[in-house]
Amino acid sequence: MSFLKEIEKRRTFGIISHPDAGKTTLTEKLLLFGGAIQEAGAVKNNKIKKAATSDFMEIERQRGISVATSVLAFLYRDKKINILDTPGHKDFAEDTFRTLTAVDSVIVVIDVAKGVEEQTEKLVEVCRMRNIPMIVFINKLDREGRDAFDLLDEVEQKLGLTVTPLSFPIGMGYDFKGIYNLWEKNINLFKGESKKKIEDTIAFDDLESEELEKIIGEKAADTLRENLELVHGVYPEFDKEAYLAGQQQPVFFGSALNNFGVREMLDCFVDIAPSPRPKKAEERVVTAKEKEMTGFVFKIHANMDPKHRDRLAFVKIVSGTFERNKPYLHVRHNKNLKFSSPNAFFAEKKEIVDISYPGDIVGLHDTGNFKIGDTLTEGEVLHYKGIPSFSPEHFRYINNADPMRSKQLNKGIDQLMDEGVAQLFTLNLNGRKVIGTVGALQYEVIQYRLEHEYGAKCTYENFPAYKACWVDPQDPGNEEFSEFQRVKQKFLATDKRGQLVFLADSQFSLQMVQQKYPTVKLHFTSEFD
Ligand code: GDP
Repeated sequence: MSFLKEIEKRRTFGIISHPDAGKTTLTEKLLLFGGAIQEAGAVKNNKIKKAATSDFMEIERQRGISVATSVLAFLYRDKKINILDTPGHKDFAEDTFRTLTAVDSVIVVIDVAKGVEEQTEKLVEVCRMRNIPMIVFINKLDREGRDAFDLLDEVEQKLGLTVTPLSFPIGMGYDFKGIYNLWEKNINLFKGESKKKIEDTIAFDDLESEELEKIIGEKAADTLRENLELVHGVYPEFDKEAYLAGQQQPVFFGSALNNFGVREMLDCFVDIAPSPRPKKAEERVVTAKEKEMTGFVFKIHANMDPKHRDRLAFVKIVSGTFERNKPYLHVRHNKNLKFSSPNAFFAEKKEIVDISYPGDIVGLHDTGNFKIGDTLTEGEVLHYKGIPSFSPEHFRYINNADPMRSKQLNKGIDQLMDEGVAQLFTLNLNGRKVIGTVGALQYEVIQYRLEHEYGAKCTYENFPAYKACWVDPQDPGNEEFSEFQRVKQKFLATDKRGQLVFLADSQFSLQMVQQKYPTVKLHFTSEFD
């Protein structure tokens, strides 16, 4: 098959939601449609439970699961679908943000009873900022939930989206009868408890027909007609270009658990979702069709097997073909690397592949060469943009608890930071190391992994910071910047890239600095123009 056809075939996306909205269940049902798995229960739920926070074996187990489900690929209607896993737990939000740099579109899952929840808001905001095309799936229609129009309003207001329903529920909860599919113009009747068969779908484009009453009853027929009239009156027509530009978001209703309304969404997704999109590098925009291979590392995972402590770097192919045993330029190290066993992912397995195409993810065995954001090319010097570090919210000093093993400790800290587990700040005043994380859970993960993977022991000590801000002096030579450095000496540190960071101890002191030193700009992410 030609290169261009391979590109056109690919749909690489992520499913995002607040924990418990049904992401795992939906993923599993999508895999069933692709024939990639035979039974339910094959997709492991990798949410980290609160109760498990001090159970190290549990952390280790969870890490294993998240390696396995990092990329799930399957074929459906001749399309190669790659689902990238995005952890829902907020302590791992950064991992999800980084994964969102590798997707070409997303599906947002919302619980019909709970509506828009906190984690959904944050993740959708990131997608909106990047104009990532989004489809919304409102889940759990078999349960009593909120009114469909109220929910659509909430999605628009809280998530800042412009929605247009492509399916609409007939009843809900106890009275849930099915959905009207505006995309395919048919009615899909709900039988509950996974008994749904394709035959239950009835083509129906004339809603005025009296057949409707016969099928769903008089009252439901009237309500459906009214609702659809309102849908047509209130919401814009579906516009594929607007969807692709991130300006309009189609909405589907269904129940993942009962595998209801899922096929409708998948069929539409396959028709409208983008194949690999162009990607901005610092130097230029790269399109998938370009012949030369380029790609970037968006995730690094430590190997689960204690005997093989190498890591797996996940690379998204942006352009060209990635071939086994061909040398590629590791741009940051300015050195050529060959990979004899690149992994591809299929359903819940991984296997060695000879060739991968734009949109695909390859897993490369790594002994410490890679960092998140690294770019591979065929010789061109390119740096892919858009993987900033976010300001951590928890800070602790890290101390060496075993002086004989300080080398191991430093190596371990270094590698864990490259994986993006947390951020390291070195205090300018005394060289002490402070670890900043998005969630408290990471401290346990770091301590456990340092001990088990590097044979090093650490202890923590509180560091009273409130936020880390990257310092951007508009005029590094002026008196204001010198004074800021002098007065705030104790709170200044350097991050791993050598950037100056201000560790504000309170919101008040942050505001004071902003008022007193207006030419010293403070940023909450590490990337700014
Ligand atoms: P995740 O945390 O977003 O991955 O959510 P899960 O897929 O693990 O689902 C959370 C819970 O909701 C599980 O107990 C599921 O069985 C349940 N669930 C998922 N989809 C549905 C649905 O359509 N209807 C009902 N009633 N429950 C559902």
